[in-house]
Amino acid sequence: MPVDALGAYDDNNIFARILRGEIPCKQVHETPHALAFHDINPQAPTHVLVIPKGPYRSWADFSAKASEAEIAGFVRAVGETAKLLGLEEPGYRLLANAGVNAHQEVPHLHVHIFGGRALGPMLAR
Ligand code: 5GP
Repeated sequence: MPVDALGAYDDNNIFARILRGEIPCKQVHETPHALAFHDINPQAPTHVLVIPKGPYRSWADFSAKASEAEIAGFVRAVGETAKLLGLEEPGYRLLANAGVNAHQEVPHLHVHIFGGRALGPMLAR
């Protein structure tokens, strides 16, 4: 079910539980500010999620409230993860769903990294 982009952070969301080590994940990369792991239901040959370690619901919440160090650390971690996955050539797609219209399902900011094949047009019409 889609969730709102703003509002109180839910400490029991699935990604908070992954960050606390309560639920396993197939980790790709970890930095002081971010964790990257394979999506449980991949929609491309490579489908990895990168999440900040702080309690932010969405891009809207993170961009308004995170510190400069958290923002820089997270953005760098996304780029590093794509590089570690060998996706810089021939390329990859980043996607961050924020809120109900975007069908965000997990209320902890995550950037999807898709790659491993030609990804076609940007959005379904
Ligand atoms: P959203 O629709 O919120 O942008 O994407 C949420 C993503 O989280 C989905 O692609 C879904 O497959 C993934 N996901 C949901 N639960 C889990 C989980 O427990 N582990 C992992 N690795 N991915 C999950």
